[in-house]
Amino acid sequence: MTVITTTGPICRQCGAPLSLTLVDLGLSPLANSYVPPEQAGQTDPRYPLHARVCEECWLVQVDDVVPAEEIFSTGYAYFSSFSDSWLAHCKAYCDKMTAELTLGPDSLVIEIASNDGYLLQYFVEKGIPVLGIEPSGNVAEVAIAKGVPTVVEFFTTDLARRLVAEGKRPDLIASANVLAHVPDINDFVGGIAALLTGDAVYTVEFPHLLNLINEVQFDTIYHEHYSYLSLVAVERIFAKAGLRVFEVEQLPTHGGSLRVFGCLKAARHLERPGLALVRAAEQAAKLDRADGYAGFTVRVEALRNGLQDFLNGAKRAGKTVVAYGAAAKGNTLLNYAGVGTDLVAFCVDKNPAKQNMLLPGNHIPVRGVEALRAARPDYVLILPWNIRAEVIAQLADLGAAGTKFVTAVPEIRIS
Ligand SMILES: [Zn+2]
Repeated sequence: MTVITTTGPICRQCGAPLSLTLVDLGLSPLANSYVPPEQAGQTDPRYPLHARVCEECWLVQVDDVVPAEEIFSTGYAYFSSFSDSWLAHCKAYCDKMTAELTLGPDSLVIEIASNDGYLLQYFVEKGIPVLGIEPSGNVAEVAIAKGVPTVVEFFTTDLARRLVAEGKRPDLIASANVLAHVPDINDFVGGIAALLTGDAVYTVEFPHLLNLINEVQFDTIYHEHYSYLSLVAVERIFAKAGLRVFEVEQLPTHGGSLRVFGCLKAARHLERPGLALVRAAEQAAKLDRADGYAGFTVRVEALRNGLQDFLNGAKRAGKTVVAYGAAAKGNTLLNYAGVGTDLVAFCVDKNPAKQNMLLPGNHIPVRGVEALRAARPDYVLILPWNIRAEVIAQLADLGAAGTKFVTAVPEIRIS
C-alpha cells in the first residue's frame, strides 16, 4: 500500500496535492483594497499570488493565504451598476429567463452576490418576486433602497437550509462572477442543491479559463478570485453536489465567460448543443491534461516585458500616461510589472467610492474621469481591457485631440 503524504498545498475541491503551476505572480497586495490617502505612507501587506492546477479535478486555484474577512472588509468598493454594457447584458438575461421559465408573480428569483440590485431590479420591474443575497452591507443597502429585498450574508449551505425552512423555493437562482470568489466551493454549490426543487434552474456565469489561457488574461488572477473555472472542473463540482449541467452559453463579458445552466440530476431538462460544444473546445485545448497549462508563465513574462518597454519608452520620450479604470485586474497587472507613479501619473474611475483613494501597492492616485480631460495625456492605458471599445467611445473627444489608447492584454495594443 502506498501512503501519500504532503505538506504542500491541496485542492480546495477534491483534496488532491497541487504540484502543477499555472503561473506564480510573486507577492501582491490585495487587488480590491484601495488605500485611503492618509495611509499613503504605509506599506500595504503583500501575499503570495500563485495559481496552481489540480491534476485530479482540473480546478485552477490560488493558494488560500488571505482570510476572507480581510478580503471582504469595508474597503471592498465594487458597485456593479457602473458599466453600461454590463447593465444591458443583465437586462437581456432577465428577458430571456423570464420567457424561458415563464416567470411571473408566483415565481421567485434568487441572486447570490446580488450587489446593489443591478440584476434583480429588472425582475422587480416585471413584478416577479426576488431575493438578493449579498455579504457587503454598504452595497446591500443600496439594493434595499431600490426595492430589492436582500439578505446581508455570505451564501453557504447553512443559509440555504434556513431559507428553505422559511419556505423560499426559487424557480431560478442566478449568480454571476461569484463562484470563483468563494473559498469553500463545495459548500456553496451544496447550498444551491439544497435550494433547488423539481425543474428549477441555476445559472452561473464565470470568466472561462480557456480564454484566460488563450488570451493571457493573467491579470484576472488575484487573491479575491480563488478559482479559475473550466467546464470540466464545474461539471465535477456540480456532480458532487447532486447537480448536472444541461446547457452552456458562451458570452463576451469579462473577456469571454461561460453561462452554465444547472439543475438537479433528476430534473427534466434535456442536454442542449451548447454543452457538447464547450466540452469539445476544452478537450481540444487539453484542459483535462497537464499539457493544456504548459507555457503560460512564459507568455505572461513576455506580456509584462511589453508593458514595461512601452511605459519606459513613453517616459524617455517625455509623454504622459494616465490609467483608466481602477479595476482589480489592473492592480494585478501594475503590481506584477512594478509600475508606479513615475510611469503612470494617476488613474481615473467613474465609481465615486474609488475616487480620491490610492491603488493598492503602487499608491497611484485615483481621480474622477474629468481629471483626464483636464490633463489631456498622450496615452490612456485602459486597465479593464474588456471594455476597451466602450472607453474609447466615451473619450472620443480626447482621441480626436490626439490622445492614444493602450491596452496591455494579451499584448500591447496602441490606437
Ligand atoms: Zn482537485
